[in-house]
Amino acid sequence: MELHKLLIGGKWVDGSRVRDNINPSDVTEVVGRFTEGGAGEIDAAVAAAGEAAPAWAASGPQQRFDVLDFIGSEILARKQELGLLLAREEGKTLPEAVGEVGRAGQIFKFYAGEALRLRGERIPSTRPGVMVEVTREPLGVVGMITPWNFPIAIPAWKIAPALAFGNTVVLKPAELTPACAWALADIIHRSDLPPGVFNMVNGAGSEAGAALVQHRDVAGISFTGSVETGRGIAAACIGRMAKFQLEMGGKNPLIVLDDADLDTAVACAVNGAFFSTGQRCTASSRLIVTEGIHDRFVNAVSEKIASLVVGDAVASDTQIGPAVDGRQLEKNLAYMDIGRKEGAELVRGGERVTCEKDGFYMSPALFVNTRNDMRINREEIFGPIATVLKAADLEEAMALANDTPFGLSAGICTTSLSAAEHFKANARAGMVMVNLPTAGVDYHVPFGGTKASSYGSREQGSHAAEFYTTVKTAYQLA
Ligand code: ADP
Repeated sequence: MELHKLLIGGKWVDGSRVRDNINPSDVTEVVGRFTEGGAGEIDAAVAAAGEAAPAWAASGPQQRFDVLDFIGSEILARKQELGLLLAREEGKTLPEAVGEVGRAGQIFKFYAGEALRLRGERIPSTRPGVMVEVTREPLGVVGMITPWNFPIAIPAWKIAPALAFGNTVVLKPAELTPACAWALADIIHRSDLPPGVFNMVNGAGSEAGAALVQHRDVAGISFTGSVETGRGIAAACIGRMAKFQLEMGGKNPLIVLDDADLDTAVACAVNGAFFSTGQRCTASSRLIVTEGIHDRFVNAVSEKIASLVVGDAVASDTQIGPAVDGRQLEKNLAYMDIGRKEGAELVRGGERVTCEKDGFYMSPALFVNTRNDMRINREEIFGPIATVLKAADLEEAMALANDTPFGLSAGICTTSLSAAEHFKANARAGMVMVNLPTAGVDYHVPFGGTKASSYGSREQGSHAAEFYTTVKTAYQLA
């Protein structure tokens, strides 16, 4: 089987170890073989990115547009093939995987346009005869550390703005999903991007990841992953005064009010909580339901999840794929035990599912009669497990929704305009959804949260410029 290498300074190079990438839908299938690097390879990649930085910072908008547009076009043209690869290595269903690849392509197209839209300001000074200009400059070498749950879209939404705004990049993708990162690196490598502007080093978080975060020539780190890792990265970056941006977990509430349209509420809950196997930081894991609709809602969600087909991510009838690996499946099952022991009542699901192929399957689970201080309501599970919290009214529902360490996404299902407006104004989350699932966001607008969910400026859309540039104020005597 072909060995996929690291991309450093425009060349494919060997690392120090080899990792087989296993299909979570069928543990007998090796999706690919990937070489992994450590501190030495990170050093080489950062050096290459540093050498390439001045010329890329001086590149014009047309060159950046052409490169990003090429990358976006190839990703879109190969959406089906790359989607299949993604589904095989990560376990989301084929339509979800193809959708994610499409999104990655659109992101490159969007930032191709952003490269053309870079602008500054020219402002008269308070001092007569003086002019002031405010412009944005690239940071230099940016390090990116990405998770496995969106193995092509998250690298895309970091790489594309970094390049559009004139930075050079070292990407350290997640250990579990090197295939999508490699495919993306291969496309970037074949574009007209000068060697060294983009580099990719697979490897362990504690080795390659840590080396990247600590490297003194890396001006900024953009990270998506767990709160625990994010906290360590923040401390390391502060220590050497590097810029950083963190996207971490969520424990996202979906409020369902008595006046909600039941079908809409059920569709939002089932999509938000269980699709992509619950492996989304925007998943709706806490369903906060007012008393008048509670029983009807619970019965309808329960019926719906009983009909969901759990199975091989690439099978045409599958609606819920496997957990990404055995460790994640064990974690999900452990939370089932924790929930039961805490006194939550299981309506259905939460069991290992045996399919024709040996994979990490479990049935979607719904707990009711839960309290917000239970661990299953405080901690991010990252599996197809949702809880229901009963609330008397909007006010209590809002209090429960906001009573969480996280603040990524929050949703409400209601037909009341005033309730929707109240919710949008008072939900303490970075993204708020009305009559829509908490997961599922656009690529041209900001993404990010509050509290333990995010740190630093927003990702995506034009707001990405905040992180990937630094502002310069120039004064000149006319
Ligand atoms: P998850 O639980 O989703 O795997 P992690 O935060 O462990 O979340 O992983 C997200 C990314 O962070 C991965 O690319 C991983 O390799 C990387 N990572 C893990 N530990 C560290 C670390 N100490 N320093 C830098 N990166 C790390």
